Amino acid sequence: MNELQTMNCHFCGKHKDEVSKLIQGEHAYICDGCIRLCYEIIQEEAAKIDNYELFTPREIYNHLEQYVVGQEGAKKVLSVAVYNHYKRLNAHINDIEIDKSNVLFLGPSGSGKTLLAKSISKLLDVPFAIADATTVTESGYVGDDVENVITRLLIAADGNVDRAEMGIIYIDEIDKKSRKTESASITRDVSGEGVQQALLKMIEGYDCRIPQQGGRKHPTQDLVSVDTTNILFILGGAFIGLDKIIKKRLNKGSSIGFGASLSDSKDPENLLQFVEPEDLITYGLIPEFVGRIPIISHLEELTEDELVNILLDVDNSLVKQYQRLFKMDDISLEFTGDACQEIAKKCINKKVGARGLNSAIEELLLELQFILPELRAEGVEKIVINEKCVSNNTKPIFVFKGEKINENPTSTEIR
Ligand code: ADP
Repeated sequence: MNELQTMNCHFCGKHKDEVSKLIQGEHAYICDGCIRLCYEIIQEEAAKIDNYELFTPREIYNHLEQYVVGQEGAKKVLSVAVYNHYKRLNAHINDIEIDKSNVLFLGPSGSGKTLLAKSISKLLDVPFAIADATTVTESGYVGDDVENVITRLLIAADGNVDRAEMGIIYIDEIDKKSRKTESASITRDVSGEGVQQALLKMIEGYDCRIPQQGGRKHPTQDLVSVDTTNILFILGGAFIGLDKIIKKRLNKGSSIGFGASLSDSKDPENLLQFVEPEDLITYGLIPEFVGRIPIISHLEELTEDELVNILLDVDNSLVKQYQRLFKMDDISLEFTGDACQEIAKKCINKKVGARGLNSAIEELLLELQFILPELRAEGVEKIVINEKCVSNNTKPIFVFKGEKINENPTSTEIR
């Protein structure tokens, strides 16, 4: 290597003493400041996206399959909605205005509504933010809270406005913001309606002015403008009681909407599959809001087998994660088939869906994790969780070096 004469950055000329880091290449030096600047230039260039890579609906569906167990109908609906959304963005057409494909997912807690939205953003490599409708401002005006959602999206986009404007926002618990027109009270639930109005404005598209660095607005702070027109909104809610509204309408002899048929669902009793916009309005969503969500799909309660599948098989499953953690202590972790079934049963009984898996596993493994280094020191090589550990809280089976056991684990061990 040629010996470089002076220790100055060849880009900005600063001396080694004036910078935090000076890196030597074969023929030049570069300082940390110039590296950062170059990185920003590259990022900005990359963000000037004229056309989005279009994945076909099947490619989107196959991607969702890796992460989301069951929910075939919702996965299909989302695949088509996302395909159309980005096709619309790429089209740059003026003659026909194609409506945005905002999606509403109805379904029980822990069935995968948020996961669907998150998995989509991963595939598309677009920024993603989650908002909880219950925390959005009660004032009824577009206030700080709605803007905070956009701020979070901008942060997820590393401050890049162009990227944020192409992002995805998931709004959870939208059903909690319905106005309770069905209630006995004659006074309108203005707060619920107000929040819907605020969210509606965001969904319809407006120039939202938010602080550049995030945080609260300040008179002297620079504000940036983020146009929400092309942001894809995915809304979710459990909509408890909506089935009764649907049933009432169906009993009055109303048709079950176009495309819906009893055979569509693995659970023909689930009335959510027959939902019509008018049911959502009766439930308490304002008509303008419903009008902006052209795509409605429902998620089913997860079955025992599906929950076991989530526990063991999906990419990054909980069991795989804990196996990896235990392996770092040189101990294999295994779950027997009936242990997994028992965990799934508990989640179903508690009506928490897959949400309960996390806490169930955490509870099961807490004590073990506490003493893991000691177990290793004592020569434990493998730990097997069986059904009794889950149902009776009994101790797991410890297998010491050279020992064999008769349990029949189903979870594959991480080597
Ligand atoms: P919600 O329907 O309440 O939005 P989430 O999507 O937040 O539920 O799911 C809660 C947890 O359960 C997440 O950790 C998620 O990974 C897991 N989960 C829920 N449904 C599924 C599913 N269908 N497939 C795989 N994991 C799921």
